[in-house]
Amino acid sequence: MKIEIIGSGIVGLSCAAFFAEKKCDVTIISSSNGPDENCCSWWAGGMLAPWCEMESAEPLIGELGLESMKFWENFTSSYQKKGTLVVATSRDLPDLKRFGRRTENWQEVKQDQIAVLEPDLADRFSSGLYYPEEAHFDPRQILPELVNYLESMGVKFQSNTSFSAEELDAPPKADHRIDCRGLAAKDHLDELRGVKGEMLLIKSNEVKLSRPVRLLHPRIPLYIVPRDNGLFMVGATMIENENRSGATVRSILELLSAAYALHPAFGEAEIIEIGVDARPAFPDNLPRIIHKGHTTYLNGMYRHGYLAAPAMAKRLVEQVLRLNSTDEHPNEPALSTGNIE
Ligand SMILES: Cc1cc2nc3c(=O)[nH]c(=O)nc-3n(C[C@H](O)[C@H](O)[C@H](O)COP(=O)(O)OP(=O)(O)OC[C@H]3O[C@@H](n4cnc5c(N)ncnc54)[C@H](O)[C@@H]3O)c2cc1C
Repeated sequence: MKIEIIGSGIVGLSCAAFFAEKKCDVTIISSSNGPDENCCSWWAGGMLAPWCEMESAEPLIGELGLESMKFWENFTSSYQKKGTLVVATSRDLPDLKRFGRRTENWQEVKQDQIAVLEPDLADRFSSGLYYPEEAHFDPRQILPELVNYLESMGVKFQSNTSFSAEELDAPPKADHRIDCRGLAAKDHLDELRGVKGEMLLIKSNEVKLSRPVRLLHPRIPLYIVPRDNGLFMVGATMIENENRSGATVRSILELLSAAYALHPAFGEAEIIEIGVDARPAFPDNLPRIIHKGHTTYLNGMYRHGYLAAPAMAKRLVEQVLRLNSTDEHPNEPALSTGNIE
C-alpha cells in the first residue's frame, strides 16, 4: 500500500515508522529540510514525563505516554531514565504539596536525598518530589536518528517541498495521505490553535544536573533539561498566542530569573539560543486522529509531541489499514482521540 505523509516533525516521522513496519511504501513530503528548526518538534525539551504532566493533563496522556516510552526505550540509546526532580523555594512549598496531590508515582525527597540525586542543588532546597520512572532525551539527537532508521526501512524523503492549498484539496497520488503538518493544518482543522512556547539553550560549566528539574514558580513553572557538553534547555512559556516570530523580553527575563532561582551559577551561563514556536492544540489539549476520505490527520499534540506521538501513530496506522482493507472512506470527518478505536 502506498502512503504519502505530509510533514516531517515528530508526528510525521512516527507515523512513517509504523507504516514502514507494516511494509507499506512510504514517502514523506515536507516543507522543511527533514526535521529542522522550521518544525515545532525542533524546539521541544524532550521530557518524557507522564506523571508530572498529570498535574494538568487528562489521564489519556498518561496512558499514551507509558506506551510511547516503551517505544523510545527500545528505539534509542539516547533514552535516559533518570527520573524528574520537582522542587520549590520555601515560599512556594504549598505549590509542591498541591503538585504532589495532583500527580502519582513520586517519592518525597528531603535535602539529603536531593543532595544525592543532584549534588549541585544540595543546599538549595529543603524538600522536593522525585518521579523515578520518568525519562528524557535530546530531540535534536532523536530526530536524525529516526530519519536514518526510516531510510534504512526504505522510506523516501522529499524535503523542502511545500504542499499547496490545491494539492492538499486534490486526491492523494498514493492510496492514502497522512496530514502531519502540525499547526499549518489549521487551514483544514477548524478547532486547531497554537500555544506559544519560548525556550532557551544555555551553557554552563559550573552547574551539573543529571535529570530534568522542574521549579514550581508562581508565574512560569520552569524546567531545565540537561543536554550534552554543558548545555541546558530552559523552558518553556505557555501563551495563548500563535505568534512564532520572536520571544518577548518579559518571557526571557522570567525564564532566566527562574533559572537563576534554581541555581545562582546559571547567572554566569552563556545564552546559546532563544527559540520560539507554537504547539498545535485542540480545545481539550488532546491529540486527535481525523479521517476525511483518503486523508487522515494526526494533530493536536500540544505539549506532548514526544510523549504521545508513537502511541497515537500506532493507532492511526491500525485504523488506516483497516479502512483501506474494507475500502470504507468516511466522507464526513470521523474523529477519535487515541482511546476510541
Ligand atoms: C518550547 C517547547 C517545548 C516542548 N517540550 C516538549 C517536551 O518536552 N516533550 C514533548 O513531548 N513535547 C514537547 N513540546 C511539544 C512538541 O514539540 C509538539 O507537540 C510537536 O513538536 C508537534 O509535532 P508535529 O509533528 O505535529 O508538528 P511539527 O513538528 O511542527 O511538524 C510539522 C511538519 O509539517 C511540515 N509542513 C507544514 N506545512 C507543510 C506543507 N504545506 N507542505 C509540506 N510540509 C508542511 C513542516 O515543515 C514540518 O515538517 C514542546 C513544544 C515547545 C514549543
